[in-house]
Amino acid sequence: MTALVDVDQLEVHFTARAGLLRSMFGRETPVVRAVDGVSFTLGKGEILCLAGESGSGKTTTGKAILRLVEPTAGKVYYAGEDVRAYNRSKLRSFRQEAQIIFQDPYESLNPRQTVFNIVAEPLEVNNLCHSLAEKEERVARALIDAGLHNPQELFLRYPHELSGGQRQRLAIAGSLVLDPKFIVADEPVSMLDLSIRAGILKLMVDLRDQKGISYLFITHDLSLAWLVSDRIAIMYLGKIVELGSADTVIKDPLHPYTRALVSVIPAPRRKVITRQSLLKGETPDPVNVPPGCRFHPRCPVALPRCREEVPPYREVRPGHFAACHLING
Ligand code: SF4
Repeated sequence: MTALVDVDQLEVHFTARAGLLRSMFGRETPVVRAVDGVSFTLGKGEILCLAGESGSGKTTTGKAILRLVEPTAGKVYYAGEDVRAYNRSKLRSFRQEAQIIFQDPYESLNPRQTVFNIVAEPLEVNNLCHSLAEKEERVARALIDAGLHNPQELFLRYPHELSGGQRQRLAIAGSLVLDPKFIVADEPVSMLDLSIRAGILKLMVDLRDQKGISYLFITHDLSLAWLVSDRIAIMYLGKIVELGSADTVIKDPLHPYTRALVSVIPAPRRKVITRQSLLKGETPDPVNVPPGCRFHPRCPVALPRCREEVPPYREVRPGHFAACHLING
């Protein structure tokens, strides 16, 4: 599969706010290592899921790829070009092709704008329509593509007059109107009722099949990841610890962290996971990343060397990568 997005050793480090005492005593300002050396590729028309607990760096990775936050180090290539080297005009066209869908459709939509104005705004900002008729046609097409039928009836409605599912479809229409090739979908169904989720996920997959859109699908819910993605990357404390095809990662997880996440998926056909796999404790603070394997304070099968040696991330089987001393021998 041809790569559309190629992420190479991406890092996003933030400077944490130093406390008064720390400043007075001249101590170093703490650094939050939100993303700490992440590499993967995303193929054309592929759905790759970034999964993990909150605080693992998934959303920051997605935003850094789109340059909504500036990376500290590493490279992001889009269609073979270095995104970090884009000039203003290249960045503008990249922003048309690469879109983001947020978790909360209500927060991401302007409550004072009508449905028509919300979807038409990206066309106006990018000066893409030459007449009102053309604009109306493109807005109507985007609404239909997002599964909102009878679009003209919705044109003058406001977000609060729509259901939760319709609002998320409206947010998706706001992305589709620019004919994107790449969408970062950040927990796109986590705020929706269970009954509505399946429809939105099906819409995303249909759009991939019909338009060849590639998705970076961000979720904390591995069962959703399994349902919609081609491949799954598991993130822990700023790093990818396992990556492989969705079926392989769920049915035959290699990393103890993945095994713990998989163990809570209610599915009859996945591998039986022992009680040892249950996670203990909270994700550590990304300001104080543990030495060695960063998962070792919570790992139920940690070895003494795990406290000192960083496990190499390597291809264990074709297309299946993991970083763990138990696997690497
Ligand atoms: Fe657990 Fe050690 Fe593997 Fe890390 S390297 S996941 S601590 S066994």
